[in-house]
Amino acid sequence: MSQEEKHTLLASLSGCADRMFELQSAMTARRGLGPDNGGDGEQSKAEYLETWLRSFGIDDIEHVDAADDRVPSGKRPNLIVRVPGRSERTLWILGHLDVVPAGEESLWRSDPWTVVHDDQDPDLIYGRGVEDNQQAVACGCALAAALKENGIVPDLGLGLILVSDEETGNAYGIQHVFREKPDFVSADDLVLVPDSGSPDGAFIETAEKGILWLRVEVEGRQCHASRPDDGKNALAAAAAMILGAADVEASFTARNSLFAPDRSTFTPTKHEANVPNVNTMPGKEVFYIDCRVLPCYSLDEVLSAFRALADKVAEKYEVSVRVEKFMEEPAAAPTAEDSPVVSGLKKAVKDVLGGDCRCGGIGGSTVAVNFRERGIPAAVWALIFENCHSPNEAARLSFAVKEAQVFASMLFND
Ligand SMILES: [Zn+2]
Repeated sequence: MSQEEKHTLLASLSGCADRMFELQSAMTARRGLGPDNGGDGEQSKAEYLETWLRSFGIDDIEHVDAADDRVPSGKRPNLIVRVPGRSERTLWILGHLDVVPAGEESLWRSDPWTVVHDDQDPDLIYGRGVEDNQQAVACGCALAAALKENGIVPDLGLGLILVSDEETGNAYGIQHVFREKPDFVSADDLVLVPDSGSPDGAFIETAEKGILWLRVEVEGRQCHASRPDDGKNALAAAAAMILGAADVEASFTARNSLFAPDRSTFTPTKHEANVPNVNTMPGKEVFYIDCRVLPCYSLDEVLSAFRALADKVAEKYEVSVRVEKFMEEPAAAPTAEDSPVVSGLKKAVKDVLGGDCRCGGIGGSTVAVNFRERGIPAAVWALIFENCHSPNEAARLSFAVKEAQVFASMLFND
Protein backbone atom coordinates (compact mmCIF):
# COMPACT_ATOMS: atom_id res chain seq x y z
CA MET A 1 0.00 0.00 0.00
CA SER A 2 2.59 2.53 1.07
CA GLN A 3 4.96 1.44 -1.75
CA GLU A 4 2.18 2.08 -4.26
CA GLU A 5 1.48 5.49 -2.78
CA LYS A 6 5.15 6.34 -2.87
CA HIS A 7 5.33 5.50 -6.55
CA THR A 8 2.23 7.55 -7.29
CA LEU A 9 3.76 10.49 -5.46
CA LEU A 10 7.15 10.20 -7.19
CA ALA A 11 5.45 9.93 -10.59
CA SER A 12 3.30 12.96 -9.87
CA LEU A 13 6.37 14.99 -8.84
CA SER A 14 8.29 13.96 -11.96
CA GLY A 15 6.01 16.27 -13.96
CA CYS A 16 6.32 19.30 -11.70
CA ALA A 17 9.17 21.23 -13.37
CA ASP A 18 6.69 23.88 -14.59
CA ARG A 19 5.38 24.23 -11.08
CA MET A 20 8.93 24.71 -9.78
CA PHE A 21 9.44 27.46 -12.37
CA GLU A 22 6.17 29.13 -11.38
CA LEU A 23 7.12 29.13 -7.68
CA GLN A 24 10.68 30.30 -8.36
CA SER A 25 9.49 33.16 -10.61
CA ALA A 26 6.93 34.37 -8.12
CA MET A 27 9.39 34.23 -5.23
CA THR A 28 12.24 36.02 -7.02
CA ALA A 29 9.85 38.77 -8.17
CA ARG A 30 8.92 39.33 -4.49
CA ARG A 31 12.61 39.55 -3.47
CA GLY A 32 12.52 39.05 0.29
CA LEU A 33 15.47 41.22 1.28
CA GLY A 34 15.73 41.84 4.99
CA PRO A 35 16.09 45.40 6.34
CA ASP A 36 19.76 44.85 7.14
CA ASN A 37 20.20 44.26 3.42
CA GLY A 38 18.26 47.40 2.52
CA GLY A 39 15.01 45.55 1.73
CA ASP A 40 11.40 45.64 2.90
CA GLY A 41 11.29 42.12 4.30
CA GLU A 42 9.81 38.74 3.40
CA GLN A 43 6.10 39.48 3.94
CA SER A 44 4.94 39.53 0.31
CA LYS A 45 6.78 36.29 -0.43
CA ALA A 46 5.23 34.62 2.61
CA GLU A 47 1.73 35.82 1.64
CA TYR A 48 2.15 34.46 -1.87
CA LEU A 49 3.24 31.04 -0.57
CA GLU A 50 0.47 30.87 1.99
CA THR A 51 -2.15 31.63 -0.70
CA TRP A 52 -0.53 29.08 -3.02
CA LEU A 53 -0.55 26.34 -0.35
CA ARG A 54 -4.11 27.10 0.73
CA SER A 55 -5.27 26.76 -2.90
CA PHE A 56 -4.37 23.05 -2.59
CA GLY A 57 -6.32 22.68 0.65
CA ILE A 58 -3.28 22.94 2.92
CA ASP A 59 -4.80 24.75 5.88
CA ASP A 60 -2.58 23.89 8.81
CA ILE A 61 -0.41 26.99 8.53
CA GLU A 62 0.77 28.55 11.76
CA HIS A 63 2.33 32.02 11.97
CA VAL A 64 5.21 32.64 14.33
CA ASP A 65 5.96 36.11 12.99
CA ALA A 66 8.52 38.36 14.66
CA ALA A 67 7.75 42.05 15.16
CA ASP A 68 10.16 44.33 13.30
CA ASP A 69 9.25 47.98 12.81
CA ARG A 70 12.01 48.47 10.23
CA VAL A 71 9.82 46.85 7.54
CA PRO A 72 6.50 48.23 6.19
CA SER A 73 4.46 45.21 7.35
CA GLY A 74 5.92 45.55 10.87
CA LYS A 75 6.75 41.86 10.97
CA ARG A 76 9.10 39.19 9.70
CA PRO A 77 6.99 36.19 8.73
CA ASN A 78 7.76 32.65 9.92
CA LEU A 79 5.37 29.90 8.86
CA ILE A 80 4.99 26.36 10.17
CA VAL A 81 3.04 24.27 7.66
CA ARG A 82 1.88 20.74 8.47
CA VAL A 83 0.54 17.99 6.23
CA PRO A 84 -0.39 14.99 8.37
CA GLY A 85 1.02 11.50 8.00
CA ARG A 86 -0.01 8.19 9.50
CA SER A 87 2.35 8.57 12.46
CA GLU A 88 3.03 11.49 14.77
CA ARG A 89 6.61 11.70 13.51
CA THR A 90 7.31 14.51 11.09
CA LEU A 91 9.87 15.12 8.37
CA TRP A 92 10.64 18.82 8.69
CA ILE A 93 12.05 20.74 5.75
CA LEU A 94 13.47 24.11 6.58
CA GLY A 95 13.62 26.83 3.94
CA HIS A 96 14.48 30.49 4.33
CA LEU A 97 12.50 33.19 2.57
CA ASP A 98 15.10 35.94 2.56
CA VAL A 99 17.78 36.35 -0.09
CA VAL A 100 20.92 38.45 -0.42
CA PRO A 101 21.06 41.58 -2.62
CA ALA A 102 21.82 41.21 -6.34
CA GLY A 103 25.25 42.78 -5.83
CA GLU A 104 26.93 44.39 -8.84
CA GLU A 105 24.06 44.31 -11.37
CA SER A 106 26.33 44.74 -14.40
CA LEU A 107 27.73 41.26 -13.70
CA TRP A 108 24.28 39.73 -14.33
CA ARG A 109 23.39 38.66 -17.88
CA SER A 110 19.69 39.14 -17.09
CA ASP A 111 17.55 41.03 -14.57
CA PRO A 112 18.34 39.43 -11.19
CA TRP A 113 14.72 39.78 -10.07
CA THR A 114 13.16 37.99 -13.06
CA VAL A 115 13.70 34.24 -13.33
CA VAL A 116 14.73 33.29 -16.89
CA HIS A 117 15.63 30.05 -18.68
CA ASP A 118 19.07 29.66 -20.20
CA ASP A 119 18.97 30.19 -24.00
CA GLN A 120 20.69 26.90 -24.81
CA ASP A 121 19.57 24.79 -21.86
CA PRO A 122 15.99 25.53 -20.72
CA ASP A 123 16.37 23.27 -17.66
CA LEU A 124 18.80 25.83 -16.29
CA ILE A 125 17.29 28.93 -14.68
CA TYR A 126 18.79 32.18 -13.39
CA GLY A 127 17.64 34.68 -10.78
CA ARG A 128 18.52 35.85 -7.30
CA GLY A 129 17.39 33.26 -4.78
CA VAL A 130 16.79 30.32 -7.16
CA GLU A 131 19.41 28.27 -5.33
CA ASP A 132 19.60 30.00 -1.95
CA ASN A 133 17.11 29.09 -0.69
CA GLN A 134 14.06 29.13 -2.93
CA GLN A 135 14.66 25.68 -4.36
CA ALA A 136 14.19 24.21 -0.87
CA VAL A 137 11.00 26.23 -0.41
CA ALA A 138 9.67 25.29 -3.86
CA CYS A 139 10.43 21.59 -3.32
CA GLY A 140 8.71 21.57 0.07
CA CYS A 141 5.63 23.37 -1.28
CA ALA A 142 5.43 21.20 -4.42
CA LEU A 143 5.63 18.07 -2.27
CA ALA A 144 2.88 19.30 0.05
CA ALA A 145 0.69 20.11 -2.97
CA ALA A 146 1.35 16.69 -4.58
CA LEU A 147 0.34 14.90 -1.36
CA LYS A 148 -2.98 16.78 -1.35
CA GLU A 149 -3.64 16.39 -5.08
CA ASN A 150 -3.10 12.65 -4.90
CA GLY A 151 -4.91 12.24 -1.59
CA ILE A 152 -1.86 10.52 -0.06
CA VAL A 153 -1.26 10.19 3.67
CA PRO A 154 2.38 9.07 3.98
CA ASP A 155 4.00 7.23 6.89
CA LEU A 156 5.59 10.40 8.26
CA GLY A 157 3.94 13.79 8.43
CA LEU A 158 5.44 16.58 6.33
CA GLY A 159 6.31 19.85 8.03
CA LEU A 160 7.61 22.97 6.32
CA ILE A 161 9.39 25.63 8.35
CA LEU A 162 9.57 28.77 6.24
CA VAL A 163 11.63 31.39 8.04
CA SER A 164 12.84 34.95 7.61
CA ASP A 165 16.21 36.47 8.42
CA GLU A 166 18.58 33.60 7.65
CA GLU A 167 21.02 35.80 5.78
CA THR A 168 21.41 38.37 8.55
CA GLY A 169 21.60 36.39 11.75
CA ASN A 170 18.33 34.41 12.30
CA ALA A 171 17.16 36.56 15.24
CA TYR A 172 13.81 37.28 13.52
CA GLY A 173 13.70 33.81 11.96
CA ILE A 174 14.45 30.39 13.41
CA GLN A 175 15.72 31.79 16.71
CA HIS A 176 12.40 33.62 17.18
CA VAL A 177 10.48 30.44 16.31
CA PHE A 178 12.41 28.48 18.97
CA ARG A 179 11.85 31.26 21.53
CA GLU A 180 8.09 31.24 20.92
CA LYS A 181 7.64 27.51 20.42
CA PRO A 182 10.59 25.71 22.02
CA ASP A 183 9.05 22.25 21.59
CA PHE A 184 7.59 22.44 18.10
CA VAL A 185 10.00 19.79 16.84
CA SER A 186 10.11 16.46 18.69
CA ALA A 187 13.38 14.67 19.34
CA ASP A 188 12.36 11.75 17.11
CA ASP A 189 11.34 13.97 14.17
CA LEU A 190 13.56 14.21 11.11
CA VAL A 191 14.99 17.64 10.29
CA LEU A 192 16.40 18.43 6.88
CA VAL A 193 17.97 21.76 5.93
CA PRO A 194 18.42 21.90 2.12
CA ASP A 195 20.71 24.93 2.18
CA SER A 196 24.04 23.44 1.13
CA GLY A 197 24.87 20.46 -1.01
CA SER A 198 26.29 19.28 -4.32
CA PRO A 199 25.13 18.73 -7.93
CA ASP A 200 25.37 14.94 -7.57
CA GLY A 201 23.55 14.81 -4.24
CA ALA A 202 26.30 12.64 -2.76
CA PHE A 203 27.22 14.89 0.18
CA ILE A 204 25.34 15.15 3.49
CA GLU A 205 26.54 17.85 5.82
CA THR A 206 26.36 16.61 9.40
CA ALA A 207 28.88 18.81 11.20
CA GLU A 208 30.14 22.36 11.28
CA LYS A 209 33.24 24.03 12.62
CA GLY A 210 32.89 26.71 15.24
CA ILE A 211 33.41 30.24 13.93
CA LEU A 212 35.36 32.90 15.80
CA TRP A 213 36.20 36.27 14.29
CA LEU A 214 38.91 38.11 16.20
CA ARG A 215 39.57 41.85 16.07
CA VAL A 216 43.18 42.73 16.75
CA GLU A 217 44.12 46.29 17.67
CA VAL A 218 47.76 47.25 17.83
CA GLU A 219 48.67 50.56 19.39
CA GLY A 220 52.17 52.01 19.03
CA ARG A 221 53.17 55.62 18.55
CA GLN A 222 52.85 57.53 15.27
CA CYS A 223 55.77 59.61 14.02
CA HIS A 224 57.46 60.93 10.87
CA ALA A 225 58.83 58.04 8.83
CA SER A 226 62.19 59.79 8.49
CA ARG A 227 62.67 59.52 12.28
CA PRO A 228 61.32 56.03 13.07
CA ASP A 229 63.17 55.90 16.41
CA ASP A 230 60.76 58.54 17.74
CA GLY A 231 57.76 56.21 17.50
CA LYS A 232 56.62 52.59 17.76
CA ASN A 233 55.64 51.07 14.42
CA ALA A 234 52.18 49.54 14.81
CA LEU A 235 52.25 48.11 11.27
CA ALA A 236 55.43 46.11 11.93
CA ALA A 237 53.92 44.73 15.13
CA ALA A 238 50.65 43.91 13.31
CA ALA A 239 52.70 42.07 10.69
CA ALA A 240 54.28 39.97 13.45
CA MET A 241 50.80 39.13 14.76
CA ILE A 242 49.62 38.23 11.24
CA LEU A 243 52.58 35.94 10.60
CA GLY A 244 52.17 34.45 14.07
CA ALA A 245 48.65 33.26 13.20
CA ALA A 246 50.21 30.37 11.29
CA ASP A 247 52.15 29.33 14.42
CA VAL A 248 48.96 29.43 16.49
CA GLU A 249 47.26 27.30 13.83
CA ALA A 250 50.11 24.79 13.95
CA SER A 251 49.66 24.45 17.72
CA PHE A 252 46.06 23.24 17.26
CA THR A 253 47.12 19.78 16.11
CA ALA A 254 43.79 17.91 16.10
CA ARG A 255 42.59 16.56 12.74
CA ASN A 256 39.06 15.45 11.82
CA SER A 257 38.53 13.79 8.46
CA LEU A 258 34.84 14.83 8.39
CA PHE A 259 36.07 18.27 7.37
CA ALA A 260 37.97 19.68 4.42
CA PRO A 261 40.41 21.06 5.38
CA ASP A 262 40.63 18.59 8.26
CA ARG A 263 42.20 21.06 10.73
CA SER A 264 41.24 24.27 12.51
CA THR A 265 42.14 27.27 10.36
CA PHE A 266 43.13 30.78 11.54
CA THR A 267 43.15 33.17 8.60
CA PRO A 268 44.03 36.88 8.81
CA THR A 269 41.57 38.72 6.54
CA LYS A 270 40.38 42.30 6.72
CA HIS A 271 42.69 45.18 7.50
CA GLU A 272 41.44 48.66 8.34
CA ALA A 273 42.97 51.69 6.67
CA ASN A 274 45.79 53.28 8.62
CA VAL A 275 47.65 56.45 7.69
CA PRO A 276 46.86 58.19 4.38
CA ASN A 277 50.43 59.10 3.46
CA VAL A 278 53.66 57.23 2.85
CA ASN A 279 55.89 59.31 5.09
CA THR A 280 54.00 58.69 8.32
CA MET A 281 54.81 55.69 10.47
CA PRO A 282 51.46 54.35 11.71
CA GLY A 283 50.71 54.32 15.42
CA LYS A 284 47.56 52.22 15.20
CA GLU A 285 46.54 49.13 13.23
CA VAL A 286 43.32 47.12 13.27
CA PHE A 287 42.90 43.80 11.51
CA TYR A 288 40.79 40.68 11.78
CA ILE A 289 41.35 36.92 11.91
CA ASP A 290 38.72 34.46 10.70
CA CYS A 291 39.01 31.27 12.78
CA ARG A 292 37.22 28.03 11.82
CA VAL A 293 37.59 25.70 14.77
CA LEU A 294 37.10 21.92 14.97
CA PRO A 295 34.33 20.99 17.44
CA CYS A 296 36.90 19.40 19.83
CA TYR A 297 38.24 22.87 20.78
CA SER A 298 36.45 25.64 22.61
CA LEU A 299 36.54 29.10 21.05
CA ASP A 300 38.02 30.43 24.31
CA GLU A 301 41.07 28.21 23.85
CA VAL A 302 41.65 29.92 20.51
CA LEU A 303 41.22 33.36 22.04
CA SER A 304 43.74 32.51 24.79
CA ALA A 305 46.29 31.30 22.24
CA PHE A 306 46.06 34.57 20.30
CA ARG A 307 46.29 36.59 23.53
CA ALA A 308 49.48 34.73 24.42
CA LEU A 309 50.89 35.62 20.99
CA ALA A 310 49.78 39.22 21.54
CA ASP A 311 51.76 39.40 24.79
CA LYS A 312 54.94 38.28 23.03
CA VAL A 313 54.50 40.71 20.15
CA ALA A 314 53.70 43.56 22.53
CA GLU A 315 56.88 42.94 24.48
CA LYS A 316 59.12 42.64 21.44
CA TYR A 317 57.77 45.69 19.58
CA GLU A 318 56.96 47.81 22.67
CA VAL A 319 53.37 48.32 21.64
CA SER A 320 50.04 47.29 23.12
CA VAL A 321 48.06 44.54 21.38
CA ARG A 322 44.38 43.92 22.16
CA VAL A 323 42.64 40.78 20.87
CA GLU A 324 38.84 40.74 21.16
CA LYS A 325 36.00 38.53 19.96
CA PHE A 326 34.25 40.27 17.06
CA MET A 327 31.76 37.48 16.32
CA GLU A 328 31.41 33.92 17.52
CA GLU A 329 29.27 30.93 16.64
CA PRO A 330 30.31 27.86 18.62
CA ALA A 331 29.96 24.49 16.89
CA ALA A 332 27.23 22.13 17.99
CA ALA A 333 27.79 18.40 18.41
CA PRO A 334 27.72 16.76 14.97
CA THR A 335 24.65 14.84 13.82
CA ALA A 336 25.38 11.13 14.14
CA GLU A 337 25.72 9.19 10.92
CA ASP A 338 23.29 6.54 12.20
CA SER A 339 20.61 9.09 13.19
CA PRO A 340 17.21 8.50 11.51
CA VAL A 341 17.42 11.66 9.39
CA VAL A 342 20.80 10.67 7.92
CA SER A 343 19.92 7.02 7.34
CA GLY A 344 16.50 8.00 5.91
CA LEU A 345 18.14 10.52 3.61
CA LYS A 346 20.78 8.03 2.44
CA LYS A 347 18.06 5.52 1.63
CA ALA A 348 15.98 8.10 -0.23
CA VAL A 349 18.98 9.30 -2.27
CA LYS A 350 19.73 5.69 -3.24
CA ASP A 351 16.06 5.19 -4.11
CA VAL A 352 15.70 8.32 -6.30
CA LEU A 353 19.21 9.07 -7.57
CA GLY A 354 20.73 5.61 -7.33
CA GLY A 355 23.96 6.66 -5.60
CA ASP A 356 25.56 6.50 -2.18
CA CYS A 357 26.16 9.50 0.07
CA ARG A 358 29.08 10.40 2.26
CA CYS A 359 28.77 12.53 5.39
CA GLY A 360 31.05 15.43 6.11
CA GLY A 361 31.50 18.77 7.79
CA ILE A 362 31.83 22.33 6.49
CA GLY A 363 33.66 25.36 7.76
CA GLY A 364 30.64 27.64 7.70
CA SER A 365 27.53 27.68 9.77
CA THR A 366 23.99 26.81 8.66
CA VAL A 367 20.61 26.98 10.36
CA ALA A 368 21.08 23.31 11.27
CA VAL A 369 23.18 24.47 14.24
CA ASN A 370 20.01 25.82 15.84
CA PHE A 371 18.58 22.28 15.90
CA ARG A 372 21.80 20.44 16.78
CA GLU A 373 22.47 22.66 19.79
CA ARG A 374 19.03 21.61 21.10
CA GLY A 375 19.91 17.95 20.72
CA ILE A 376 17.78 17.51 17.57
CA PRO A 377 19.77 15.77 14.82
CA ALA A 378 19.60 17.77 11.60
CA ALA A 379 21.10 17.03 8.20
CA VAL A 380 21.98 19.54 5.50
CA TRP A 381 21.55 18.29 1.95
CA ALA A 382 20.45 19.69 -1.39
CA LEU A 383 20.89 19.07 -5.13
CA ILE A 384 22.52 22.35 -6.06
CA PHE A 385 25.51 23.86 -7.82
CA GLU A 386 26.65 25.79 -4.71
CA ASN A 387 26.65 29.14 -6.49
CA CYS A 388 24.61 31.02 -3.93
CA HIS A 389 25.19 34.77 -3.47
CA SER A 390 26.99 35.03 -6.84
CA PRO A 391 25.84 36.95 -9.92
CA ASN A 392 23.74 34.85 -12.36
CA GLU A 393 22.71 32.56 -9.49
CA ALA A 394 21.57 29.38 -11.22
CA ALA A 395 19.57 26.25 -10.47
CA ARG A 396 18.25 23.29 -12.46
CA LEU A 397 14.53 22.55 -12.61
CA SER A 398 15.39 18.84 -12.93
CA PHE A 399 17.45 19.09 -9.71
CA ALA A 400 14.44 20.58 -7.93
CA VAL A 401 12.22 17.75 -9.20
CA LYS A 402 14.71 15.14 -7.95
CA GLU A 403 15.17 16.95 -4.65
CA ALA A 404 11.39 16.95 -4.07
CA GLN A 405 11.33 13.24 -4.94
CA VAL A 406 14.05 12.54 -2.36
CA PHE A 407 11.99 14.37 0.28
CA ALA A 408 8.94 12.38 -0.84
CA SER A 409 10.77 9.08 -0.55
CA MET A 410 11.82 9.97 3.02
CA LEU A 411 8.14 10.17 4.00
CA PHE A 412 7.80 6.40 3.55
CA ASN A 413 9.38 3.97 5.99
CA ASP A 414 9.08 0.86 3.78
ZN1 LIG B 1 20.79 29.95 2.43
